[in-house]
Amino acid sequence: MPAVTKETLRAFLHDSLPDGEAAEVERQLRDDAKLRAQFEQVRLEEDRGEHSVGAIWRRDHISCPSRDQLGGYLLQALDQDLIDYLEFHLTVVGCSFCSANLDDLKQKQAEAAATTKTRRKKIVNSSAGMLKDVTKPA
Ligand SMILES: [Zn+2]
Repeated sequence: MPAVTKETLRAFLHDSLPDGEAAEVERQLRDDAKLRAQFEQVRLEEDRGEHSVGAIWRRDHISCPSRDQLGGYLLQALDQDLIDYLEFHLTVVGCSFCSANLDDLKQKQAEAAATTKTRRKKIVNSSAGMLKDVTKPA
């Protein structure tokens, strides 16, 4: 068997080696402290996510929810599954792209709420005015 490369170790870590080869790597790992150290290195790299699908997703925003979904999240108007996913995405993955998007939506929502309040106040005032008019002696 050729020398175990980092790629092989990575494949071993991800359980994607053919059985025979995996057994051989396992055997070499048991016998070879240097290889174990190298394996540890690969494992750490994978943990940091430098080669993981997750890292690529994070880089390219493939896993990012849509702006509509983020808006629904703010309004608590999503399925629990999706809420869980968004919470994971925002807090665990810590996607800065979506955090910024969410902040922007929050601000827009606050502005919209302020506008609604003003409008409601206007309606109340004008109704009060109408009531006054109605009750005014002719
Ligand atoms: Zn995102």
